[in-house]
Amino acid sequence: MRIGFFGGTFNPIHLGHLKAIKKVKEEFPLDKIYIIPSAMPPHKDRIDVPNADERYEMVSLAVKNDSAIKEFVEISDVELKRSGPSYTIDTVLHYKSIMPADYSFYLILGMDAFLEVNTWKSYMDFFDIIPFIVITRPEAGNHKTTDKGSAVEEFLFKKISGQYRYNSKLCGYIHDNKKTIFVFDVSPLDISSTMIRNYVREGKKISSLVPPEVGSFIEKKGLYS
Ligand code: ATP
Repeated sequence: MRIGFFGGTFNPIHLGHLKAIKKVKEEFPLDKIYIIPSAMPPHKDRIDVPNADERYEMVSLAVKNDSAIKEFVEISDVELKRSGPSYTIDTVLHYKSIMPADYSFYLILGMDAFLEVNTWKSYMDFFDIIPFIVITRPEAGNHKTTDKGSAVEEFLFKKISGQYRYNSKLCGYIHDNKKTIFVFDVSPLDISSTMIRNYVREGKKISSLVPPEVGSFIEKKGLYS
């Protein structure tokens, strides 16, 4: 069984997240993708982060009403149940400890998030224990995924190890002693949760940015306004 973890604040979940999940599943042989909303995001400004239950509820609504993903996506409340800040390393170690030894795990994240991994708790450990699937985002659009001078490559060489090398067959950076860093261009949608929160605050329509059920939930609960 191959399981991908896709963590984030999901404040709120949006069509960019859903497209990324679908594309990764198309490109990569994963059996399941776990969406893992974080409880107290260590990297985000806490103002403007609604109650974790509401963020979780929006993820559930989005998944439940999307026939293209509901078969293979699970929503994990592991970070919501844990007290204190959400550290991804704890989540990865948790799942590794409770799942069968022959399961393999992958950490899916946008390029913007990947380029900040060096600010995460115990970040060096990730490179030894779990492969990354890095997906493009419009903010990082200047960098071609297979470009030798890409942001990912520069990051790996400078912050992790100079021994990575690009393997075009795998679409990723391989290393003799570390896990592979796969890089996929998922033709991302230029949507962010920040954009949605701003739109709501400014009274603009968000129907092209979130699934309809999420839009109705935001309206009903008066979130972000
Ligand atoms: P915010 O604007 O509040 O920072 P966000 O839109 O970046 O939020 P997160 O919940 O922080 O959303 O993101 C979770 C994961 O999804 C991260 O790895 C992020 O890089 C990725 N991601 C977010 N939006 C997109 C998108 N439009 N396309 C591809 N990946 C995305």
